[in-house]
Amino acid sequence: MFDVLVVGGGVIGATVLRELTKYELKVCMVEKESDVAMGQSKANSGIVHAGYDAKEGSLKAKFNVLGSKMMKDYASELGVKYRVNGSLVVAFSEEDLETLKELKVRGEKNGVESLEIIGESELKALEPNIADNALGALHAKTGAIVCPYDLTIASIGNAMDNGAELYVDFEVANIEKLENGFKVTATDGRELNAKVIINAAGLGSGKVASLAGDNTFKVGGRKGEYVLLDRESGNFVSHTIFKTPTKKGKGILVTQTVDGNILLGPTAEEVDDGETYTSQDGLAFVTKTANEMCKNVPHYNTITSFAGVRAYCDRHDFIIENSPVVNGLINLAGIESPGLTSAPAIAKYTVEELVSKHLSLNANKNFNGVRKPDYFFKNLTIEEKNEIIKKDKRYGKIVCRCEEITEGEIVRAINENPKATSVDAVKRRVRAGMGRCQGGFCQPHVAEILARELNVPFETITKNGKNSNLLVGKTK
Ligand SMILES: Cc1cc2nc3c(=O)[nH]c(=O)nc-3n(C[C@H](O)[C@H](O)[C@H](O)COP(=O)(O)OP(=O)(O)OC[C@H]3O[C@@H](n4cnc5c(N)ncnc54)[C@H](O)[C@@H]3O)c2cc1C
Repeated sequence: MFDVLVVGGGVIGATVLRELTKYELKVCMVEKESDVAMGQSKANSGIVHAGYDAKEGSLKAKFNVLGSKMMKDYASELGVKYRVNGSLVVAFSEEDLETLKELKVRGEKNGVESLEIIGESELKALEPNIADNALGALHAKTGAIVCPYDLTIASIGNAMDNGAELYVDFEVANIEKLENGFKVTATDGRELNAKVIINAAGLGSGKVASLAGDNTFKVGGRKGEYVLLDRESGNFVSHTIFKTPTKKGKGILVTQTVDGNILLGPTAEEVDDGETYTSQDGLAFVTKTANEMCKNVPHYNTITSFAGVRAYCDRHDFIIENSPVVNGLINLAGIESPGLTSAPAIAKYTVEELVSKHLSLNANKNFNGVRKPDYFFKNLTIEEKNEIIKKDKRYGKIVCRCEEITEGEIVRAINENPKATSVDAVKRRVRAGMGRCQGGFCQPHVAEILARELNVPFETITKNGKNSNLLVGKTK
């Protein structure tokens, strides 16, 4: 019997799982996909929002501001890429300028520090590629960027290093209430028992709550489509640039990513399912809006497009609570934006204020919160690289030429927690295949390394789990 079972391997489940391992608790996570960080936490903007956007008094406002303040130390402990680049909400009309004043007041009420409204000349000095008709901006100096899937994977990896267990391909299909806990059954019949369930199932959180007998909320999906430009265009903007929100919507953002790409998007479209395909109309909207916000957008450097689906709930705020109807069920549901920013703060609150109502929390004296990744290999000096290669020759062999990722890094991603078992899982951990050729050259080599390290036939290797096999069989 586990003390706590977390449903959902997104950033919310991940940060909660890690927080739980700070205490003497037997904990596990179940995830329906073959890897973690496969839902919203894979496909989002990666912005650590300053906190001026959410309505005063809402849970979104509270956890956004707290999370934004915690993120630097959190990311640094886990070796996750994070950078304070500042954000700019840009005004293109007199009406927009009025809205900026309201956003500043709201931000200050929410507790955001260092908010400033800047004029046209200062804005254009900060961002030379901003459109000529820009009039000014709200400058949030605490705005930052982080790698969302890295944050998720590193949190789960660190939790596993501290004793947590992970079950992938485990889709919760049934939850039975026992006298002192729950029996959780997967679609394939596997069963796990736990005293407390934390429902962090994103788009599936309404369904998981309902399986446990809680029908107090509903979760819907809102799709966001993106265009990603190559790192070659990395200096096109340095801040995260937003359009001033209007009654018609929030528009899109133009930002650098922590890896130096430029990201344009997302759209916002209600969807019935979790399908993350992009559309001609969606991408055309992104392109058109980016061209309205900035001049000379280097669209010729587009390397891919993708979409993510936000899980919003009918209460229009985060749900972070002990279920009002099922004792032992904790719902972390409807965590749409700014959920990534809020994650470390939601995790701390969940364990200290919600889990503590069911279980006693005794500190785990062996907890080690530090994780040291090695994907910064390409940024090392030649002397440092040579030292590592002397110890392990696989670091001397580049597999992904675009991103300069070595065999040593790929082997480590396959062998460390949470272990990568597909080509895309390797990609999310070390960026092999994330560059200009999008895996055109390295994909077969990564698959070969996976087959060798996992000791399985080459043709069983998948692109992204389930039925996404790369090969059907041998021809010769
Ligand atoms: C387009 C877009 C842009 C965004 N931009 C930002 C941003 O810039 N900044 C920010 O702070 N936030 C942003 N967000 C919000 C942020 O991404 C989310 O708040 C956060 O990722 C939510 O994490 P989660 O763990 O709740 O959900 P998810 O990451 O979706 O994880 C839920 C997991 O549960 C699993 N699951 C579902 N059902 C079951 C089941 N029955 N059994 C087992 N597992 C199950 C899913 O497979 C999934 O892996 C954005 C979101 C989107 C979609």
